[in-house]
Amino acid sequence: MKKQLSVILLAVLLSGCASLIAPHADILPNGADNLSITSKFYESMFDGGNPNVAKLNLFFTKMPKGGDLHHHYSGTIYAETYLDWVAKKDWRIDTCTLRIVAAGERTGEGCDLITVQQLLADDTLYRKLLTLWSDKDYQNHSHDQPPPDSNFFNTFGYFGAVSDEYTDVGLNILKERALKENVLYIETMLSRVGVRGADYFDGDTAKTLSQLLRKAQSQEETDTVLDRITSALVGDKRFISSVNEFIAMVENNHCGIDDNDFVMRYQTYAVRVLDPIQVFTDLLAGYLAAEKSPLIVGVNIVAPENNGVALADYTLHMRMYRYLLGKYPHVNRALHAGELALGMVRPKDLTFHIQQARDIAQAQRIGHGIDLPYEQHCLELLKDLKDNAAVEINLTSNEFILGVEGNEHPYLIYSSYGVPLVIATDDSGVSRNNLANEYVLLASRYHPSYARIKKYVYNSIQYSFLEPADKASLKNLLDKRFVIFEREMTNLYGNLRK
Ligand SMILES: [Zn+2]
Repeated sequence: MKKQLSVILLAVLLSGCASLIAPHADILPNGADNLSITSKFYESMFDGGNPNVAKLNLFFTKMPKGGDLHHHYSGTIYAETYLDWVAKKDWRIDTCTLRIVAAGERTGEGCDLITVQQLLADDTLYRKLLTLWSDKDYQNHSHDQPPPDSNFFNTFGYFGAVSDEYTDVGLNILKERALKENVLYIETMLSRVGVRGADYFDGDTAKTLSQLLRKAQSQEETDTVLDRITSALVGDKRFISSVNEFIAMVENNHCGIDDNDFVMRYQTYAVRVLDPIQVFTDLLAGYLAAEKSPLIVGVNIVAPENNGVALADYTLHMRMYRYLLGKYPHVNRALHAGELALGMVRPKDLTFHIQQARDIAQAQRIGHGIDLPYEQHCLELLKDLKDNAAVEINLTSNEFILGVEGNEHPYLIYSSYGVPLVIATDDSGVSRNNLANEYVLLASRYHPSYARIKKYVYNSIQYSFLEPADKASLKNLLDKRFVIFEREMTNLYGNLRK
């Protein structure tokens, strides 16, 4: 039933919250000419071999960019905004750790607690906080810092205490930013459903079940244990009401987000570094939420893939997805997979992650897919990806976390093989980038044709988890936006040549 719900019906269901997507009526008769002149303008930015990044910045800021499909909500809000929220709560910052101290919490011996206002008055301390709460200034001067992947993932521990406090405000900030850079759609990984799996079992049962899951040698053995956990959870009213509360939270915060120019949808996720019973509880709760709410369109798995638990339990997690696919075949799956580089983990761990995300979990979209060249069956995998999935390319994130960039990036393989690709930001608050900049990096590094770039933009709607009717509406809107954009770029090209 849910699958037939379009944006229009959803607007009715959320009456007062959303209006219909209406087509714009600004179509030029000479669209085709403007297309070829825009393409020529784009190519002119590469004259002499050195990409004109200033012009590319303008070009891609104005260009309609369809959707951002690999997008973490909490990693997208800027540290400065989180500090506003800390101030609004009247919480404090610990001067020793630069962590948030909520009302009633204590800090370490000999450390001061200061207000956000006091922090801002101390520029050195404030600038230091920004290096811990984001990737800002990581590379431009020497200072005490953890390795880049740790710096990146640690940021979530700093702002995590306040990140889910003002979700309605946060979603509106994301929408405002999207509108300013001509992004029509965001599919954001919002949060876990937030159920503690161990609370549903007596004594050491949860521990025993986790051990059994880790010992299981096959899908069948795994399924037997997952059956036990599933019946305990779904048979408990507390679990179902937690899922319903999550759905209500999403629907309330979504109020006012969708309109004629913009649509947002949500993924929930499990955290792959946690105990197996917790990972499965998050996945099951996420599947139930996605099954029930048209706003929740997919279930992901997040956190560092090179973490010891994430590596040891990788196949188990894929089997959990496979199990849930059998129970809820309509729930969409986008998985972080292959976010690994040579030397980061033992060689064996580079050989199967993307493949299992496809073969076992049947992910429709792969997030990152960087370890492709080292996958044992990479040739068969490429064919499978080309025919059955899409890969989410996150250039800034891959460069910072993995050190993979330029001619090392498997974009070069995926693009020439014809694997469907989408361009995404990952965590634009932590990385302090935006979607336009991801296209600038793509163009300046790899010089794909304008036609290919447009293909990626349309892919970001085609491979989204929107309903078919919603995809059609957004593609229609995209067509109209491109007509306007190509007319503007044609005029600009003429003026720049004068
Ligand atoms: Zn990600």
